[in-house]
Amino acid sequence: MEKSRHASLPISVGNVTKTYGNVYALDDVSIDIKSGEFLTLLGPSGSGKTTLLMVLAGFARPDCGSLRFGESEMIRLPPHRRNVGMVFQNYALFPHMSVAENVGYPLRLRRMAKAEIGAKVDDSLETVQLGGYGDRRIDQLSGGQKQRVALARAIVFEPRILLMDEPLSALDKKLRDRMQIELRHLHEKLGMTTVYVTHDQREALTMSDRIAVINHGRIMQLATPQKLYDNPENRFVADFIGESTFLKVARDGSGLEAAGVKIGSSKPSPDSGSLLLMMRPERIRILEGPVAERVNEFPAIVSDLVYQGESYLLYARLGDGTELAVRGATRSDAFSRLPKPGEKVRLGLDYADTLIFSDAEA
Ligand code: ADP
Ligand code: MG
Repeated sequence: MEKSRHASLPISVGNVTKTYGNVYALDDVSIDIKSGEFLTLLGPSGSGKTTLLMVLAGFARPDCGSLRFGESEMIRLPPHRRNVGMVFQNYALFPHMSVAENVGYPLRLRRMAKAEIGAKVDDSLETVQLGGYGDRRIDQLSGGQKQRVALARAIVFEPRILLMDEPLSALDKKLRDRMQIELRHLHEKLGMTTVYVTHDQREALTMSDRIAVINHGRIMQLATPQKLYDNPENRFVADFIGESTFLKVARDGSGLEAAGVKIGSSKPSPDSGSLLLMMRPERIRILEGPVAERVNEFPAIVSDLVYQGESYLLYARLGDGTELAVRGATRSDAFSRLPKPGEKVRLGLDYADTLIFSDAEA
């Protein structure tokens, strides 16, 4: 593969619905993916991630909706004419072929000349750091090496769009962590528009330019990792990404109240319906001395303090009985002292970190 970036294309998914019997695998999905973007579909098992990828690749025909790559409508094109590279979770390699034969397969399909195939296969294997492995048999490779072969095969014909369906889920954690960084570097180098599927929120946060959180075939929020984490728009997203405790919020005259405490926030909250307050463990701290302004203060009783190596996790019970988790890095001033079970503490949540949203189940 030449070291220059591949051409890439924007993808526009418009109002796509796909049903299987009475199951809505995709329910009116619209997404615009930018040219060269690394976009991740993140959601629990059965949420529709694979179905959406199959619609993009052309293996599933939606009931309705449109799909454009650049200016071209794709919905009626068969998979082999869409020119997308695809990597599956289970590698889907041909066991009876060598590494080089596997990687060269898409080029033979495209009837490329033998000499040219050889050069492109070598380049592609080099790109995934498997230079010199061409003659190996597939069953002589480790899981990580097989996944690299699958990746080399997906990029060898220089597709403008790369689709990956949980490609790292069969690997052990250490290798997965390394491959996440490697795939990200590869994307930066090659620059093709990439749609990546995972159910692992940390993987999504690590790799993506933007993340589409999907549940029951619907996009719950589409935003950058930081926006999703700091400003989830609904309970599903807040719950799925990171850890949180939720408190019911009551309207108290003109103001808001949760766990018997008046609540202030620097962010707007919905003005009707029932409300929830989201509390992230690492955004809460133990207050000492006088209360600062613009901090919500919750009296609580410590139930447990757990040492977890890089951080402490403190569990405390609020006035309304809710148990709350508070996380502080071990080597930081998050906990100026370590309280004991049974001790009374005051927990602080800055107005800036106080996020209130509608309790409606989306
Ligand atoms: P995910 O990849 O997020 O786990 P899928 O896209 O595979 O989810 O599935 C979404 C929903 O569609 C699930 O309820 C699943 O059972 C259903 N589904 C997917 N493919 C088929 C199929 N070929 N036939 C029937 N139901 C399917
Ligand atoms: Mg799937």
